Amino acid sequence: MSTRSIYLDHAATTPVKPEVLEAMLPWFTENFGNPSTVYSIGRTSKKAIEEARETVARIIGAEPREIFFTGSGTEADNWAIKGAAYANMKKGKHIITTSIEHHAVLHTCQYLESEGFEVTYLPVDEYGLVSPEQVEAAIRPDTILISVMFANNEIGTIQPIAEIGKIAREKGICFHTDAVQAMGSIRVNVSDLNVDMLSMSAHKFYGPKGVGALYIRKGVKLTSFMHGGAQERGRRASTENVPGIVGLAKALELADKNMDEHNKKLIALRDRTIAEIEEKIPYVRLNGHREKRLPGNVNFSFEFIEGESLLLMLDLKGIAASSGSACTSGSLDPSHVLLAIGLPHERAHGSLRLTFGDGNTDEDVDCLMEVLPGIVERLREMSPLYEEVRSRKKD
Ligand SMILES: *Cc1c(COP(=O)(O)O)cnc(C)c1O
Repeated sequence: MSTRSIYLDHAATTPVKPEVLEAMLPWFTENFGNPSTVYSIGRTSKKAIEEARETVARIIGAEPREIFFTGSGTEADNWAIKGAAYANMKKGKHIITTSIEHHAVLHTCQYLESEGFEVTYLPVDEYGLVSPEQVEAAIRPDTILISVMFANNEIGTIQPIAEIGKIAREKGICFHTDAVQAMGSIRVNVSDLNVDMLSMSAHKFYGPKGVGALYIRKGVKLTSFMHGGAQERGRRASTENVPGIVGLAKALELADKNMDEHNKKLIALRDRTIAEIEEKIPYVRLNGHREKRLPGNVNFSFEFIEGESLLLMLDLKGIAASSGSACTSGSLDPSHVLLAIGLPHERAHGSLRLTFGDGNTDEDVDCLMEVLPGIVERLREMSPLYEEVRSRKKD
């Protein structure tokens, strides 16, 4: 049995690419100057940030002055939503989002509800899709913001962002998308998509943790997120994370350059894994959409078992994966995403997410498929429900 470790959780985070680390290193040491200062090493840092801004802007079809660096994807989401809510509250207090957003969006919206805003959480279909018609029907005269994620972090479903953007533009409503999972896998152009604000996070595309960016279309009204110095045009105070910003831009540049090849490889690994699980393991259900799906995402529910036990058994075999139940937070509530696509609680508990990335190979899938059917069978043997179903089948 192999003892090497296999990482299948790239939706949680990705390793920093060597070229990215190399680009970042000088900005910790010799080029340590504060970008807000006037002397040479400070100006060098300032220049590095502005170059990074130009790179990010070019890749998403924006202007450099529309890119704002943040401390994470979560911060970008918080800023977009709270910033637009507070800046427009005289116009209205209604926000439209979906029931399958990341907690960075959902919990921000819930907070705003406690502040007197009204939020419509659109339901999704069995694949996790929200329709442009649903969005349009939810719009009211007092709607000030629509926030719909580009691609879902659990089930990988890709939303019809261009169609939603078109509606938002026609109605003159600000449209934000959490594109944290999309960046690096989907080509994004904010003008083609009619997106007004877009969140990204470097550590999801082989950049460093703790740095993100928010695209804010010029003319969009937003309150400042951090109050203090004049950094980021006075809208996000605090001394810039120069190495992180340089790393984000480098990682995005590489991801953009290698996207076709990267996606081709991930789609092959994904589709092979889906086919083999469906072939070799009974009582499974693929969660999410078969085609409108992130290249590296596999998400299955296995009847009669707990996702947590599955994760622990896989971990013993050196395989790192994730499940739909949020036990990290100490709660055993099933995933809100899996419940929203209509899974009953038991099935939502028995889910497994495998997300492929750069370093994965066909051999990783071989190893996975060598152990997974056996693990599932052993766990099922402990389930009285499974016994019952099996004996019924024999009759
Ligand atoms: C990871 C993730 C976030 C949060 O980004 P951080 O940089 O970890 O704060 C937000 N939205 C989605 C969809 C994510 O996958």
